Amino acid sequence: AAKGLPGSSFRVFDEEIEQSFARRKRIENKLLRADLNTSFELYYQPIVLLDTQETKAYEALIRWRCPNGTYVSPAEFIPIAEDLGLIGDIGEWVLMTAVREAQSWTDGARIAVNLSPRQIGTGHFAKCVQKALETYGFAPDRLELEFTESVFMQPDTACIGELEALRELGVRLALDDFGTGFSSLSYLHKFKFDKLKLDRSFVADVTTDPDCASIVSSVVDLARKLDLELVAEGIETQVDHNFLMAIGVPLGQGYHFAKPMPRAELPYHCAPLKHAATA
Ligand code: C2E
Ligand code: MG
Ligand code: MG
Ligand code: MG
Repeated sequence: AAKGLPGSSFRVFDEEIEQSFARRKRIENKLLRADLNTSFELYYQPIVLLDTQETKAYEALIRWRCPNGTYVSPAEFIPIAEDLGLIGDIGEWVLMTAVREAQSWTDGARIAVNLSPRQIGTGHFAKCVQKALETYGFAPDRLELEFTESVFMQPDTACIGELEALRELGVRLALDDFGTGFSSLSYLHKFKFDKLKLDRSFVADVTTDPDCASIVSSVVDLARKLDLELVAEGIETQVDHNFLMAIGVPLGQGYHFAKPMPRAELPYHCAPLKHAATA
């Protein structure tokens, strides 16, 4: 954009808006036509004890492969699916698939499933979880549901009521992206979670920014006192790993240990039996 030409920067801006609008429209159209069972897949990322690197859980992360072979990030398409009213069906597919696939794992690792806030407070979701557990005979305490703080932006009673119903089923509840919401501490006071997942924005700076390190070590303290499990998200280096372990973070997740991987690449005790080669 040439400097000094009145309106030129606005034109660039308009074009950008138009492009992102067109992209959104394309994604909407493809999402509306996507077939749940053939378009989506779950990847799994280990959550490990920092001390021994033993895997305690796998987080299920949805992957959407478009007909042209490209992938669209869940960070982009999940909010669109929410607006289109598709998140109920997608969320139910994720839950059923994750529980079905995890059921055969013999290492006893838990399975963590992400939930959109729009799935909660409908009164339907707890039943859906119960159905998944019953269908696959899955132990409730091996299922962990991850919520972000935005779950609390809905009318309080419906949401808290449904969280209570989930707790009664015996599943575990985790607060995801902890520290990035508006008033995380009030939620800890309103509702008893089992686990906190410290957002990776804190992990990124923890070794270089002393203030950040102080925040993380305060969260370690808080988690201990409230008897919550604590996971640091987005650990990418050995240096981060060592540092977080030294200040008392018990669990971690990140590219340093493993990237999210398709089911077939999980360690042998989790992977499905491979079909004999047909040579
Ligand atoms: P999240 O639940 O906080 O998941 C962690 C995200 O961080 C994942 O991104 C994961 O691939 C990424 N990640 C893991 N380790 C590292 C690391 O070391 N460095 C960096 N830079 N990133 C790392 P992903 O898979 O793209 O998912 C993005 C978000 O989309 C998730 O954030 C979650 O909020 C949402 N999401 C994913 N799957 C589902 C789903 O099945 N249902 C719903 N409702 N939301 C989902
Ligand atoms: Mg998560
Ligand atoms: Mg997270
Ligand atoms: Mg996140």
